[in-house]
Amino acid sequence: MAKKKDVCSFCGSSRTEVRLLISGLDGYICDQCVEQANTILREELLVSNQKGAASKSEFKVLKPLDIKNFLDQYVIGQDEAKRILAVAVYNHYKRIDQAVATKAKDDVEIEKSNIILVGETGTGKTLLARTIARMLHVPFAIADATVLTEAGYVGEDVESILTRLLQAADYDVKAAERGIVFIDEIDKIARKSDNPSITRDVSGEGVQQALLKLLEGTIVNVPPQGGRKHPEQKMIQVDTKNVLFIAGGAFDGVERIIAARHHTNVVGYGKDKKDQVDKDNLLQYISPADLKKFGLIPEIVGRLPILTYLHPLTPETMKRIITEPKNALVKQFVRLFEMDGIKLIIEPEVFDYIVEKSIEFKLGARGLRAIFEAILTDDMFEMPSQHEVKELVVTKAYAEAKFSKTGLSKLKVA
Ligand code: ADP
Repeated sequence: MAKKKDVCSFCGSSRTEVRLLISGLDGYICDQCVEQANTILREELLVSNQKGAASKSEFKVLKPLDIKNFLDQYVIGQDEAKRILAVAVYNHYKRIDQAVATKAKDDVEIEKSNIILVGETGTGKTLLARTIARMLHVPFAIADATVLTEAGYVGEDVESILTRLLQAADYDVKAAERGIVFIDEIDKIARKSDNPSITRDVSGEGVQQALLKLLEGTIVNVPPQGGRKHPEQKMIQVDTKNVLFIAGGAFDGVERIIAARHHTNVVGYGKDKKDQVDKDNLLQYISPADLKKFGLIPEIVGRLPILTYLHPLTPETMKRIITEPKNALVKQFVRLFEMDGIKLIIEPEVFDYIVEKSIEFKLGARGLRAIFEAILTDDMFEMPSQHEVKELVVTKAYAEAKFSKTGLSKLKVA
């Protein structure tokens, strides 16, 4: 093609009509056409990125045994909860795949398997949920049920949960719709008595009602930046049909309800059956009826059909938590020192000491890290500047001396 002199080969504008005309081998391009081409390019790239993101969110469903094995690398003990979670998660993602692959040949619709984990605080409920999300490479969000309120009251609307999920998914709606949401402290929105309230119960029942919709699967208008809905904000529609909800709560006092039920159940079965109940670990007998009695509305209990429990942590488990998980505390500190060229050696009695202190101050597994920090802070402050020091050996006596100097050790034991 002959190069038409001083005319944009794309729009035909002459040099006098444009600000800039760039010359090429066979033609010219003007500044306006460059800009337009740039816009087209950006839009096209965005679309293909989104397609790529959607295919990234297609993952292979692991078998329950593989899920359990993966969880074992990060979470110590809690075998019953892990097995039940593994099956529930496996079934959940099988259900999604079935819905996508076959348009239900035989009308068997697999129902959603949202999960509720009951166990004392700090026993690994959040960790389990987070680890599953990490394994599946799906977006994960944590919501605190205590800050949720019914629409129109001070606090967060339940939609805020999905805002967080969208943010975790980098606003990839398709990925968010297959994500996992952990709703913490679900027990704190229990209504105060077993009887449906006559007056409105802002903090409890209303929130449960609002949550119900999300749990059962609905299309929700989500404010992308969070906050209250206001007309100017452009909403993003998120379908919660395939979002897996895992709720967790300590349900303080539920043991009494379980005990009472077992007592009544055993009437007529003879004394032996009663004796078989393991009174030290009543949570293992928890049933949906106990959750209702505790104050969850029946509809919520029905929408969280998989119920399991976590064991309280024993000193033995706490010690394992320090050393065994893939990202165990001790491994993290060793790595931190290693980065300064220092070999950190912690003698085994120190672990017992840390566990002892964490139990004494009722800090649970969360306290382990705080006590570690308390013992090592001086060294983490000083050693990076002491180039001649290449090793730190922490003995029990050393740990005691460091810990007793810190504010933590002044905690009053309740
Ligand atoms: P919960 O949600 O039950 O209150 P978390 O899962 O947040 O408790 O646990 C708090 C911290 O304690 C976790 O970050 C983890 O370091 C540790 N932890 C608790 N239980 C376990 C466990 N079974 N295995 C490994 N670490 C645990």
